[in-house]
Amino acid sequence: MTKITRMQRTRKLSVRSPAKKPARSAKARAGGGERKGAKPASRKSKSPKSKSAKPWTPSEVREAFDRFRKANPEPRGELEHLNPYTLLVAVVLSAQATDAGVNKATRELFKVADTPQKMLTLGEDRLRDYIKTIGLYRNKARNVIALSEKLLTDFGGEVPRTRTEIESLPGAGRKTANVVLNMAYGERTMAVDTHVFRVANRTGLAPGKTPLDVELALEKVIPSEYMLHAHHWLILHGRYTCLARKPRCEVCLISDLCRWPEKTV
Ligand code: SF4
Repeated sequence: MTKITRMQRTRKLSVRSPAKKPARSAKARAGGGERKGAKPASRKSKSPKSKSAKPWTPSEVREAFDRFRKANPEPRGELEHLNPYTLLVAVVLSAQATDAGVNKATRELFKVADTPQKMLTLGEDRLRDYIKTIGLYRNKARNVIALSEKLLTDFGGEVPRTRTEIESLPGAGRKTANVVLNMAYGERTMAVDTHVFRVANRTGLAPGKTPLDVELALEKVIPSEYMLHAHHWLILHGRYTCLARKPRCEVCLISDLCRWPEKTV
């Protein structure tokens, strides 16, 4: 890729992924890393009464994703990037930050550092200057330098293609791996962020107490043919329609299928 990719604005998505530590002590200190199994911050919305809510039938699931696909056949994420490496860096930087805020910083950063080697040449101090508007930037800068070093040392400067390898990188946890595998390598992975977590629970599509529960539940109920884009459709739905505080049920594509007792239509 030679141009920064900007994701669709109509129904967009975000992929915030937490950063992991360059070293265990750093993560523990700064708290900016991706905590495996950690629950998304926004968990106020109530899920359907799990004992009474009727699970979605396979035909209902198919109907929902048919509608998402018809409305937005090629959903895109919003994090701007140039290649798998810059996508990885952007995702690591996006922990507890908005995509817009990350993009604002990375637009300039990626002009000078779009490979691990260039990032190391830039150095941690100058990297911090580029990303100082992003929360937890000190720890994230440390992670980005550490993961760049590891990419060069262990992976020939390329972003690896397996979950285990990506998760071994400082700042990258399961969600980061799922995002990179999906967006950079076209794998049918399901990254669960706060939006996906809320939508899956609220609608009753794939209830779960942790992101991992929801991820596995979604993988179980969503037919394979939808999995490449399902992550984006659900994020976009949560971000722009099924809002945490005031869901826009009146314009929701799946209001008739949603099991949430508090839906307004
Ligand atoms: S009907 Fe309302 S609560 Fe249910 S998915 Fe749609 S926006 Fe969300």
